[in-house]
Amino acid sequence: MRVVPHWINGARVEGAGERRLPVWDPATGQQQATVVAATGAEVRAAVRAALDAQPRWRAASLSRRAEVMFRFRDLVDANREQLATLLSAEHGKTVADAAGEIARGLENAEFAAGAPHLLKGGYSEQAATGVDVYSIMQPLGVVAGVTPFNFPAMVPMWMFCNALVAGNTFVLKPSEKDPSVSLLLADLLRRAGLPDGAFNVVQGDKSAVDALLADPDVRAVSFVGSTPVARAVYEAGTRAGKRVQALGGAKNHMVVLPDADVDAAADAAVSAGYGSAGERCMAVSVVVAVGAAGDAIVPAIASRIAKIRVGPATDPDAEMGPLITREHRDRVAGYLAGSGGTVVVDGRETDAARGPGFFLGASLVDDVDTGSAFYTDEIFGPVLSVVRVETYDEALKLVNDNPYGNGTAIFTRDGGAARRFQYDAVCGMVGVNVPIPVPVAYYSFGGWKASLFGDLHMYGPEGLRFYTRTKVVTSRWPDPATSEVDLGFPKVR
Ligand code: NAD
Repeated sequence: MRVVPHWINGARVEGAGERRLPVWDPATGQQQATVVAATGAEVRAAVRAALDAQPRWRAASLSRRAEVMFRFRDLVDANREQLATLLSAEHGKTVADAAGEIARGLENAEFAAGAPHLLKGGYSEQAATGVDVYSIMQPLGVVAGVTPFNFPAMVPMWMFCNALVAGNTFVLKPSEKDPSVSLLLADLLRRAGLPDGAFNVVQGDKSAVDALLADPDVRAVSFVGSTPVARAVYEAGTRAGKRVQALGGAKNHMVVLPDADVDAAADAAVSAGYGSAGERCMAVSVVVAVGAAGDAIVPAIASRIAKIRVGPATDPDAEMGPLITREHRDRVAGYLAGSGGTVVVDGRETDAARGPGFFLGASLVDDVDTGSAFYTDEIFGPVLSVVRVETYDEALKLVNDNPYGNGTAIFTRDGGAARRFQYDAVCGMVGVNVPIPVPVAYYSFGGWKASLFGDLHMYGPEGLRFYTRTKVVTSRWPDPATSEVDLGFPKVR
């Protein structure tokens, strides 16, 4: 059986560890590869390689670093199909969906290529007489990224494009569930001209993450995954004196006002609720239907579900693939046997759900009680809940009282209502008639509340700030004509 290696110092390295984890083919339910969890010594070897490479990579000019990012961008573009096929074979999402993920990841390389402009500091001439003050953005050193299974290419690119172009070196710990695409990305970075050791991959799970968190040479950790792990990584990392940004889970609400275009809202709810089988942190999980919107949108969603083609990623007609593991599929299906809502469409009855793969059809639950598990849990599968309320204020209260604050959206034709919602929503990302408001790469991505631990959002301008620290220089060139002894505190006026 294929064994997925690490990538250390510019080359594949077979894992020597004893703990072997299965990589499934979610469409068939068969194991397709094994990933060997990194030992402490292997994690240390990756950090050591990054530490050794960092001074030289930092010394490369801004233009040279940007050039590597340009080349990497072109290589990702030229290898889109291979990346998407490899990714979907382990994740299970359709190849078209995987290609979309690659396209959004590639935007981060494009943004990072602009670093010579973005890494400019400030300069104040004559801050005091004959004194100039300026700021410089310098890299942190070795930084680590820990990424989830649901975007095995895009989320690493959210992190390493900015980290590398700022002069850091990087150790990635990808999800053990779909680890192979990280090695292809590593190889593309090598071909783009990144020096050996500047980008490394260690495979594994919690033990590899713990080793990174304990390593004093790792200066910062970017994490994306579930909320309990994000909180734990944030606490352990900051306790060890590291800079940490840890993005967690979500429960995204889509508010539909009575004046919304029902067809457009139903199209959006179905696309954002069931795309990638609901395994997106920005998936719509709850439709909050205000007043008459409920009676209109529930049948409109149900009729669209009937047309969704569920199948393996290798089927070009498939629109929705399987879930990531059997345990996860069974856990998601378990909700449909629970109480607290009326199951309008039951995905367990889809043909594909009866086969050996980890499939579950799209499911719709109406009249969901906000005390039930349908509403309180991040289900992370193709189960869309509808909560009915009477007023906009009730809908807003649901959004704002929810412990998560990743994304939310409002569907309406009323510009005033949309403006009010954008102002009031306690959430990091808001869509107005846009169901998955993932910001473009030149803004930054991040939720509020239990969806993010840390201060800076990921990628874009905040990503660059996360991977740099500012130094301020106060400078005077000696001028014998004005030099004198002055024991007072330096004055600027
Ligand atoms: P996960 O939390 O199980 O795993 C994420 C990463 O952490 C993996 O690399 C995993 O190996 C590692 N890990 C798992 N348990 C650990 C532990 N106890 N200690 C240290 N490391 C550990 O998440 P997942 O199942 O891979 O991904 C799905 C979750 O990620 C969902 O909750 C989803 O909402 C969230 N997510 C959030 C965003 C966002 O931007 N906020 C984006 C994508 C996914």
